[in-house]
Amino acid sequence: MLVVGMKRSGLAAARMLTALEASVFVSDSAESESLAYEVAALKTAGIPFETGGHRIEALDGMDFVVASPGVPPDNMLVREAVARGIPVLSEIEVASWVTDAVIMALTGSNGKTTTTAWLGSIYRESGHASEVGGNIGRAFADFAAALRPDARAILEVSTFQLERVDEFRPHVAAILNLTPDHLDRHGTFEEYVRLKFRLLENQLESDVAVLNADDPTSVAYDKEHHTGTAQRWWFSTRQAVCPGVWWDGEYLHYNDGDSLGIIPHSDTLVPPGVHNRGNAAAAVAMALADGLTPTEIVPGLIAFRGVEHRLEHVATINGVDYINDSKATNPDSVAKAILSFDRPLVIIMGGLDKGTDFASLVDDLRPRVRALVFTGKATGKLEVELGAHVPYRSAPAFDDAFSLAVDVAEAGDVVLLSPGCASFDQFRDYEDRGETFKTLVGELAQAEEEGR
Ligand code: ADP
Repeated sequence: MLVVGMKRSGLAAARMLTALEASVFVSDSAESESLAYEVAALKTAGIPFETGGHRIEALDGMDFVVASPGVPPDNMLVREAVARGIPVLSEIEVASWVTDAVIMALTGSNGKTTTTAWLGSIYRESGHASEVGGNIGRAFADFAAALRPDARAILEVSTFQLERVDEFRPHVAAILNLTPDHLDRHGTFEEYVRLKFRLLENQLESDVAVLNADDPTSVAYDKEHHTGTAQRWWFSTRQAVCPGVWWDGEYLHYNDGDSLGIIPHSDTLVPPGVHNRGNAAAAVAMALADGLTPTEIVPGLIAFRGVEHRLEHVATINGVDYINDSKATNPDSVAKAILSFDRPLVIIMGGLDKGTDFASLVDDLRPRVRALVFTGKATGKLEVELGAHVPYRSAPAFDDAFSLAVDVAEAGDVVLLSPGCASFDQFRDYEDRGETFKTLVGELAQAEEEGR
């Protein structure tokens, strides 16, 4: 078969299929200089490949195509495969063919990595065999074949991967929330929602789908389409649900249909914000639906400390808290960040716009923000959509934006990097942007230290 795209998941799929003695060819349009690691790995594994462009003949004799998440539907080989009736699949699809392990998969617009890592922490501490991967950490194809049948494959799944599933069937699946994101790729919000629900498409009555009772889009879509036949569980930060898991005041409650109770120590969770309470509820619902007891769940639930670049506390300097939320790449995640603090905020926003609408943030921003600092390519759009309503400054370069934020902030404030945009206009990725922010905070701390 043909693998299109040789980065992380493409390389993993090629290696996995080769180990199963399939005949594999890999094609990537990028030049080999930018694929040094992948090229070396393919050579070591003896897998033939081409770089710097696709040849149409690469499709000849192929049973199916594995397309990496980053490969768009109008890719030349993908289009030609569709025209020839050759199935185009994602790496998680083919990886699921080679394992009998129990698949637990999560998707949603925001909170996927956090919740997947949280669920991973629950399973790790419970002592059950499990492996976390997919869009986070290792690609599923890297470890699927080695999993024991009683192990849990805990997977973060993106919309791009769901575009190309066929038989992929999680025993427990969750859709965390649905807000506009990646509309540049998926076109309409309706299409994006439909793709997310494909996670449930192959589920059977013995499986469980965990949905967000507070998310009107999820509730309405599920009512209308009832995708798959899995039993529904719910999670909520506002209302009692059954079967499911919800917050009432400080504590997490559960009701599995037979018994109900409180998850012990749920008042001691660390990651801040109501949205993280929702993430915890989703992870607990998934674990309970899979048969873990509350006692098994508690150690990993309370041990979890959050994930880097997601509302990560970096330092407190002159009474100002510096928070790195570089992974906030859409307006909803910015909204959640704003609501996680009860002190005046100076927020650095901007980067590469993904076609989303920022005006929806105005009501949340107005009472909480001392100033916004806009940066990067989206500066103009942010000035138009938010600048009329909230005090702001602008600096195209990121380090200048940081300096402006430092100047504006007063003791007791929070300086929050929560960009609401992609990072690719000035950075390699969101991690690069978060690291840059942390470096600037570190330099500021040092300068303050030396000035004393
Ligand atoms: P994803 O993997 O879906 O991008 P992450 O866990 O990496 O999600 O978090 C991305 C951003 O979204 C971070 O800014 C984080 O603080 C925020 N976030 C986390 N959980 C949620 C949620 N349930 N709803 C909205 N935003 C969230």
